[in-house]
Amino acid sequence: MSAAETLDDWRDLAGGLDIRTKAFINGEFVDAASGETYTSINPADGSVIASIASCDAEDVDRVVKVARDAFESGVWSQMAPARRKRVLQKFAQKMRDNRQELALLESLDVGKPIRDTTRIDIPASAASIDWFAELVDKVYDQIAPSDPAFLGMITREPLGVVGIIVPWNFPLLMASWKLGPALATGNSVILKPASVSSLTALRVAELASEAGIPDGVFNVITGSGSKVGMAIGMHMDVDGIGFTGSTEVGKQLMQYAGQSNLKRLGLELGGKSPNIVLADAPDLGYAAKAACFGIFFNQGEICNAGSRLLVQESIKDEFMELMTKAAARHVPGEPLDPGTQMGAIVDQGQMDKVLYYIGEGQNEGANLLYGGNRVREETGGYYIEPTIFDNVSNDMKIAQEEIFGPVLSVITFKDVDEAITIANDTIFGLASAVWTSNLATAHKTARAIKAGTVWINNYDQADMTVPFGGYKQSGFGRDKSIHALDKYTQLKTTWINLEV
Ligand code: NAP
Ligand code: MG
Repeated sequence: MSAAETLDDWRDLAGGLDIRTKAFINGEFVDAASGETYTSINPADGSVIASIASCDAEDVDRVVKVARDAFESGVWSQMAPARRKRVLQKFAQKMRDNRQELALLESLDVGKPIRDTTRIDIPASAASIDWFAELVDKVYDQIAPSDPAFLGMITREPLGVVGIIVPWNFPLLMASWKLGPALATGNSVILKPASVSSLTALRVAELASEAGIPDGVFNVITGSGSKVGMAIGMHMDVDGIGFTGSTEVGKQLMQYAGQSNLKRLGLELGGKSPNIVLADAPDLGYAAKAACFGIFFNQGEICNAGSRLLVQESIKDEFMELMTKAAARHVPGEPLDPGTQMGAIVDQGQMDKVLYYIGEGQNEGANLLYGGNRVREETGGYYIEPTIFDNVSNDMKIAQEEIFGPVLSVITFKDVDEAITIANDTIFGLASAVWTSNLATAHKTARAIKAGTVWINNYDQADMTVPFGGYKQSGFGRDKSIHALDKYTQLKTTWINLEV
């Protein structure tokens, strides 16, 4: 592909795309056993992009068998870690080499701005694969300080067959956070993308195969959560699942595990993250821009979105002025236009859900300070402008339920203690932020907030070196960093008698 620079360039490239539409099982693209398909829609204009294989439990049986055989054969699971590293590095390089195509597929499929998919989604996905590839021949097993008559070895082993079930907001990135550690440690994987966003998963399965990942080790199965997802969850021969998605489906997966084989689960679930701005914040203008980015980036379709803004009463008016100014910079536009910073909502159902919550906010008596409307309706696409409610109380629906769209709820507080109480008054515990110039306040608040991530004087800082995951009903287990290995491996103890 030649380098795309303008909207027309991207449209030309989109016209020439060769889209993979079948499940990828044992190194081959195959139809669903039933022959059924579902359509993938471009949310920028509502047009149909492709018909994708709609698999069901029969296909899941088939793919689990293939993955099991590959695992037991040792072709990947018993490969020297340094060799797996080189194959995975090749895979990451292939993602980078095909960045333009992958970014385009992701933007077309879910409405994300092309500037984000080219600069963030695809490079970060490749970086995740690379990071775990580089890690895996540098982690050592252990010898226990036991009675010298015995040798107690503690070794890390792959789980076996791992299901990876991901949502549509960062389709390839969420998959890659799990593919990296799961593949690097030697598992065979079955990736199930969300059915509204299957395209990049299918394309990277092929790239993985070209890079040398053996057949049966990396499979992609497309189809609905209620059929394919549930069948993976209930399967007696799937050893573990890495899941990112809603709290509701996370709870279902726990039930499936309990009803089947007690498979290992890692659950990265929803959030309603508090972003606390104290009157002594070092730079209110910067804080306002970060708060807007924290909720409006990716159309607000972010698990760790700062969807509750807690502002100290004494600076509320001043801060709201800065917020509406900053919000005005987020204007929904055509996702393939390189100038667009905010794209389309993933589908009509999600758009309707967001609009429902905007209506509920008004019904419950919050003040609609900014936005609140569907826009660009003439395109046939699903766009919602950045929306800010103030005078929200924390017991309102728009403060308690995850909206997963560009809607911010602003709540005021008098002092730090009240802010902490409000911050923790939620079923979720994914992320949070505190803005203050006082070091002690920063540390004390960070300790008091029950969340997997606390940002001090920033929102959204991230890289592969730190773990990411939730407290409370935001789930358990961690993606990213060396801690992610725990999710895809188990510890074996081997006792060797040295005196017989
Ligand atoms: P979702 O409805 O929970 O779906 C997630 C995945 O689970 C999809 O692949 C879906 O398949 C599948 N699924 C649905 N029902 C299932 C079932 N009964 N059994 C097994 N799998 C099933 O979530 P979403 O709407 O795609 O994504 C938004 C959610 O993801 C939000 O709650 C967000 O907070 C969360 N999220 C969390 C993180 C994190 O790291 N904590 C990151 C991103 C997103 P189909 O869609 O094909 O039916
Ligand atoms: Mg789509």
